[in-house]
Amino acid sequence: MEFKKQLKQLKKALASHPTKPQPTTPPKDSKSYAVCICRDSKGEFKTLYPTQLEALQQANLLLQTKGFKLKTYPCPDTLGWHLTKS
Ligand SMILES: [Zn+2]
Repeated sequence: MEFKKQLKQLKKALASHPTKPQPTTPPKDSKSYAVCICRDSKGEFKTLYPTQLEALQQANLLLQTKGFKLKTYPCPDTLGWHLTKS
């Protein structure tokens, strides 16, 4: 019954270490995790840009690289911006 003895010691060791309180500070990079429920006409989740400037920069990039003419509009679900084709 050596295993049971070791298990008992392990449990004792774990019990003697109080669980540390979880850090309450939110992640600094939280804006990059912003999501919303908006979907495009294909049913895919739309990209959420935290600022209109970033949405405009992406719109410009797509215009130059792919010829897509996109407009920015504020997300109706959360804080952020989306691109739309029309
Ligand atoms: Zn949205």
